[in-house]
Amino acid sequence: MRIAENCPQCGMRWWRDGFYLGALVVNYAVTVFGLLLMVVLATLHGWLAPRVAVALSLGIAVIFPWIFYKWSWSFWLASYYGVLPGELPANLGHDEPELRE
Ligand SMILES: [Zn+2]
Repeated sequence: MRIAENCPQCGMRWWRDGFYLGALVVNYAVTVFGLLLMVVLATLHGWLAPRVAVALSLGIAVIFPWIFYKWSWSFWLASYYGVLPGELPANLGHDEPELRE
């Protein structure tokens, strides 16, 4: 569950103050609008019994964000630097610290 502070390949800093909020939003959005919405729609169509839907939703709500945490972090970093490429360390005009030994 820990995010490394730097990329082990190039040393670019991954951890920035407040970045966990973006990853949290991505994780929440995928969980709620990607998965739980499917369960709700399947229940409304009668494909899932309500009790099964509640159990499935609780399982998804607890387990999926934990599994998806690192991917949500990656997606957030890619989105951030995709929208603000000037924030990339290589574009700021100074190099990131060397890879830690
Ligand atoms: Zn890297």
